[in-house]
Amino acid sequence: MKHIIAMGGAEYSRLGRPGNTGTRIVCVSGDVVRPGYFEIEVGKVTMGQLVYEMAGGMKFGRQLRAVIPGGSSAKVLRADERFKIKEKQPDGSTIEREIFIDEIPMDFDSLAACGSMAGSGGVIVLDDSRDMLWALNNINEFYAHESCGQCTPCREGALWMKKITDRMLLGGGVMQDPATLKTVADNIAGRTICAFGEACAWPTQSFVEKFPEDFAARATKSAPPPLPPEYTPEELISEEKIPTVPLAHNPGWEKAGAAGTI
Ligand code: SF4
Repeated sequence: MKHIIAMGGAEYSRLGRPGNTGTRIVCVSGDVVRPGYFEIEVGKVTMGQLVYEMAGGMKFGRQLRAVIPGGSSAKVLRADERFKIKEKQPDGSTIEREIFIDEIPMDFDSLAACGSMAGSGGVIVLDDSRDMLWALNNINEFYAHESCGQCTPCREGALWMKKITDRMLLGGGVMQDPATLKTVADNIAGRTICAFGEACAWPTQSFVEKFPEDFAARATKSAPPPLPPEYTPEELISEEKIPTVPLAHNPGWEKAGAAGTI
């Protein structure tokens, strides 16, 4: 605000890049030497400059593994990915360019083109010591707690995703878990009355897609998942290694399905 008052709106809007003007405060947290708030000209700073120069770089001996660039709901970007962005040339033409994560301009259009978003400006940096299942579980716990409960896909789905990643972390991961997580997330996004539905689905969708090795390593048992509750408590209890809790209502209702028969 102080810049707009000092410079005037017209001058301020010349900062940044076309369509992504002005300045923005971003908060860099996670595995960097100097986490904090930084005010940047939108799009004039790259992800690499933000992480390695402004935030002091990775902690000693560590490598960048992933960045969540716009708050916990933004889709995660993998450090070894290549991203395609379109750039306008001085003659008005547009070229497509492949870039590394360090080269992503920190603006709205570029981060959207890279498959994520600038979002709230909360840049979460994850190094190579991080277990991506643990990171997703942490995020899932937040969204399961924060859902207001009005829409069924968000209320139930956010909790199911948390319960599945909880169980995987406890050693009860089954081979269907990555696919089940994706199915649950896919059935939340676009089916709720507020954007929280997408916010809680995007982390699961992106973590499962981008880090299949982390999820496969924890999804090793060939038993049916205890959630969603398509199985009776008796069937779940017969699988001794899967921790579960008794359902509070008649599970036959879920099993009956649309036909109404068990
Ligand atoms: S999508 Fe929004 S309104 Fe619907 S349950 Fe979730 S938080 Fe509530």
